[in-house]
Amino acid sequence: MAVFPIHRPTVSIILCKFNTQKNTTARLFKPSDLQSGPIGLEIMRTLLTTFWTVLVCATAMNAQEAYYSVEDYDHVEKFDSHFHIRTVEPKFVELAAQDRFKFLNVVVHTADSTELKQKHQASFAQKSVHPGRVEVASAFPLEGWDDVDWIEKTIQYLEATFRNGAVAVKVWKDIGMEFRDKDGKLVMIDDPQFDPVFDYLEQKSIRLMGHLGEPKNCWLPLDEMTVKNDRNYFQRNPKYHMYLHPEMPSYEDQINARNRMLDKHPNLLFIGAHFGSLEWSVEELGKFLDKYPNAVVDTAARMGQIQYQSNQDLQRVRDFFVRYQDRIVYGTDGGVTAPGQAKASYYQMQQRWISDWTYLCTDEQQTVPVLDMPVKGLKLPRTVIDKIYRRNIQRVFPDSWKALSN
Ligand SMILES: [Zn+2]
Repeated sequence: MAVFPIHRPTVSIILCKFNTQKNTTARLFKPSDLQSGPIGLEIMRTLLTTFWTVLVCATAMNAQEAYYSVEDYDHVEKFDSHFHIRTVEPKFVELAAQDRFKFLNVVVHTADSTELKQKHQASFAQKSVHPGRVEVASAFPLEGWDDVDWIEKTIQYLEATFRNGAVAVKVWKDIGMEFRDKDGKLVMIDDPQFDPVFDYLEQKSIRLMGHLGEPKNCWLPLDEMTVKNDRNYFQRNPKYHMYLHPEMPSYEDQINARNRMLDKHPNLLFIGAHFGSLEWSVEELGKFLDKYPNAVVDTAARMGQIQYQSNQDLQRVRDFFVRYQDRIVYGTDGGVTAPGQAKASYYQMQQRWISDWTYLCTDEQQTVPVLDMPVKGLKLPRTVIDKIYRRNIQRVFPDSWKALSN
């Protein structure tokens, strides 16, 4: 990947570093200390020289293996655990296989039941064409909410999606921000009518993915928002810009409703999409993860807010990723929305994937489209990167992505 400058520690640099270290082992056993002497000492000197060389080489190799470089990007198996492919064309996933990406393809709720059905069909088609590369998170209709049999029908609907291979269920921000019952009352995620559905998921150990609420920027005026993508999105979608709708629930109301729902379902396995809508503060995010041990969060579409924080205090953000390395899964919220766009979407996504990889794996400085200031990378250890990009999602869905095409 020639687009970014590449830094990789070389053996010679590490040898120099190693030799300048004043460590006790070096002072006691350095072979050059044994200048001459009887045959026993000669043998000992040879042995110590060998030992010294092996030690230096091993240290050099360890240091090389501790971090990934930008070059490693397409060698490492990765998951984009928050993705939306809405077409049946196989092309995008085929192209992304070159980058060693696999996907959790997420169906987002829409009030139009025909459209919801089409989204499911496209997702299941992707899964069946790419066994082992694509898994599906389904969504359920809110249509008929006021009918007495909504709960029963919803569970049946979900069961059908599981029979088709869905491994998780997604709920979207329209719950809490848009959807109303027959009396015009806004339905929040802790509404008791959801409880039997979530009980069912809890019993079946099926993970619920929640995009609930919005980034905190949504409740701020445009010029106070921390990232450009939020500013652009809320400018284009004023109906979701809550700063303009003070009669609607506050940011805290959304977070509290989500937490009350989780409190009612202590065994519910949860994915907090978009850093659980706590993207603005790694401290708050840490508190959430401490309080809800069954929750993980994905990074989708909120990397800018994290970069905004690391530009203020890189160590604080890096410490967060290291501390919660088992609780974060990589995702982008990218996708393919219409037929014929696979190639264009792929090249667009690849830029983002490489940018995120560079940010997480290296200490390179780069410009990112969502911030005015350049962003320096976190340079997370290789072990942490493997968890965020692969191991955590494999742990969360132990039976998934198992089919032949690996
Ligand atoms: Zn999404």
